[in-house]
Amino acid sequence: MPAPRHQRLARTTYTFGGHLAEYLQGVSDQWLRPAPRANPAMLEIFGDRDRLPRRNLVPWAGEFAGKYLTSAVQILRLTADPALREGIAAFVKHLVSLQAEDGYLGPWPRANRLTGAAPNVMGQEGLTWDAWGHYHVMLGLLLWHEESGDRQALACARRIGDLCCDKFLGARTPRLVDTGSTEMNLALIHSLCLLYRRTKAQPYLDMALQILEEFAALAPDGSHLAGDYLRSGLDGREFFQTPKPRWESLHPIMGLAELYWLTGRDDCRRAFEHHWWSIAKLDRHNNGGFSSGEQAQGNPYHPGAIETCCTIAWAAMSAEMLRLTGSSVVADELELATLNSILGLHSHTGRWVTYNTPMDGVRKASAHDIVFQAREGSPELNCCSVNGPRGLGLIGEWALMQGEEGLFLNWYGPSTLEAETAWGRVRLAQETEYPRNGRINLRVSPAKAAEFALHLRLPYWSARTRVRLNGEAVKGVRPGTYLKLERRWKRGDKIELDLDMSPHYWAGERECEDRTSVYRGPVLLTYDRRHNEMDPEDLPELDARALKGRLLPNQDWLPTQVLAEYQAADGRRLRLCDFASAGEGGSPYVSWLKVRNAPATPYSPANPLRSGRT
Ligand SMILES: [Zn+2]
Repeated sequence: MPAPRHQRLARTTYTFGGHLAEYLQGVSDQWLRPAPRANPAMLEIFGDRDRLPRRNLVPWAGEFAGKYLTSAVQILRLTADPALREGIAAFVKHLVSLQAEDGYLGPWPRANRLTGAAPNVMGQEGLTWDAWGHYHVMLGLLLWHEESGDRQALACARRIGDLCCDKFLGARTPRLVDTGSTEMNLALIHSLCLLYRRTKAQPYLDMALQILEEFAALAPDGSHLAGDYLRSGLDGREFFQTPKPRWESLHPIMGLAELYWLTGRDDCRRAFEHHWWSIAKLDRHNNGGFSSGEQAQGNPYHPGAIETCCTIAWAAMSAEMLRLTGSSVVADELELATLNSILGLHSHTGRWVTYNTPMDGVRKASAHDIVFQAREGSPELNCCSVNGPRGLGLIGEWALMQGEEGLFLNWYGPSTLEAETAWGRVRLAQETEYPRNGRINLRVSPAKAAEFALHLRLPYWSARTRVRLNGEAVKGVRPGTYLKLERRWKRGDKIELDLDMSPHYWAGERECEDRTSVYRGPVLLTYDRRHNEMDPEDLPELDARALKGRLLPNQDWLPTQVLAEYQAADGRRLRLCDFASAGEGGSPYVSWLKVRNAPATPYSPANPLRSGRT
C-alpha cells in the first residue's frame, strides 16, 4: 500500500518563542482550559437528550464537544501543558460516560438517533447534522487515544463505528446519504478510515467504501444527493462547480486521501489532489483564508464572509495534501494561512475567535456575528469558537516532518524542535525574528553524529535565498522546492538562511480590480487605521517600482508581527502591519491596497493547474 510521503514526528517537543508562543499560551489558558466548565452544555446536551422539555438545539450541536477535543489535543501536542492534559482527560472521561448503550453519542432523542431529523431543531421539526457530530467526536477521541493511549477513548470511538455499521452497512435503508445534510453527514468516511487504520476491523473500511459509492448517489429526479467528489475530481470539474461546494465537503474529501493509503486506489488520490489545487487556485483569498459566504465561489476576490471553520478545514485538508505529495508549495500555503488568517481570526489573548475574517473590514468576535448559536449553558459556543484553535494546533502536523529521504523543516520562527527521528534524536534550534525579517540562524544538533538529509523549505516567494552551512555558501538554491542538505551532521552544525523579504504582489481582478495585495515574505501587509493618520477612504497609492519601507519597532500595547512605514507616491507615509494584527483594536483595516506599477505575480511556479500538468 502507498504510504504518506511525509509524516509528522509523533515524539517531538516544541518550544516556541515570539508571537506564536503568546497565542498558544493564551488559547490554552483563556479558552481551552475554562471552556467546558464555562459552557457545560457542551456535554450536558448528551446526558439529557431524552429529557423534557427538550432543549432547543442548532442542527450541529453535537459537533461542539468533538471539535473542542480535537482543538485541545492538537494544542496540547505543541505545549505539553500538564494542566491542559489533565483537563482533557477529565473531559474525555465525562464524554465517554454519556454514550448510550447502542453507541449513540449525540444530543437528539432516542427515536431520532442518526435519522437526520429531530423535533427540537431551532425549536421545531428539522434536519440534524447528527452523523457529522459523531464524525467530530470520533476524530477527537482518536486523536486523544493516539496522544494518551486512553483505551476508553478508542473503545468509545469503536462503539460509534459499530453503530454506524449496524445502521447503514450493506443493503439497508435508509442509507446514510438519505439522512440528508450530506456535505456534513458523509464526513464519517474520514473518521471511519482513521478507525480502520487503528483497529484493522474490516466493517469500518467496508462502511467507508460504501460512503465512497454514496458520494455519487442521485435523487429520483436525477439531481445529486451528495457532492460526487470522486467523479467530479476525476472529470476535472472545479470544486466550486461540484454539487456541494460548501466548506463542510472538505471533510468527506479528506476521506479520499485516507482511502488511497488504505486501499491503494489511485483514483481517490487524483480526485483529492484535484480538489485541493482547485481551491488553492480559485477560492483561497489573499490572506490564506478559504470560503466566501461559507462556500467555494470560484472567485478569490468575492467579498463574502471568510468563515473560521472554512479556513480551519482548508488547513486540515492542506496538512493531508502535504502528507500525500510532500510538495513544499503546500507547506507554503499552510504558512500563509497560519501567519495571516489563522492568527488573524484569534484574539491575541486567545479568548475568542471570529466567524468572519474579511480581507478588508473589521474583526468581530464570533460572539457578535453568530450569537444565534449561543444557548443556555453554552453562552460562548458556536461552530467557530470550538474549531479555531485547531488552526494553531495543526502546526504540529507540518512544522517538522519525516520521509524516506530525510527530515523536512517547514516551520520558520523562533523555536526549538526536538524530535525522535529515524536517525536518532535531533534538535533544531532557530534564532530568528522571522517573519519580521528573513534571517534564520539554525543550529542542528543530533544527540549522536548521524548521516541524514535535512531538507529546508524554500518558499516560492523567496526569489533570492542565501544559505550558508558552517560558513560555506550552499549552491542549488531554488524557490518553491526543498533544499536537500545531506551529510554527517554533528552537534552544533550551523545553517544561516536568508529569505528574500523584498515585496511581492498579487494584482487584483473583479471586485478587487485596481487594487493590489502586497506581501513581505509570507506576511500580507495591511493598513490598519490605528497605525495611521489617514482614514481608509483616503489611502495613498504606493509605487511598486520604488517601494521602500523601514521596519518600526514594536512598542505598541497591542503587539504586531510586522509594522513598517512606506513612502507613498504622493509623499505621505503609510504604515502597514501584518494582516493577523490588523483590526485587533476594533479599527477598520484594508489589505487590498492602491499600488501602481505592480507586476503580475503567479500564485505559484509549482501549481500544476497553471502549467497544464495534473
Ligand atoms: Zn464556524
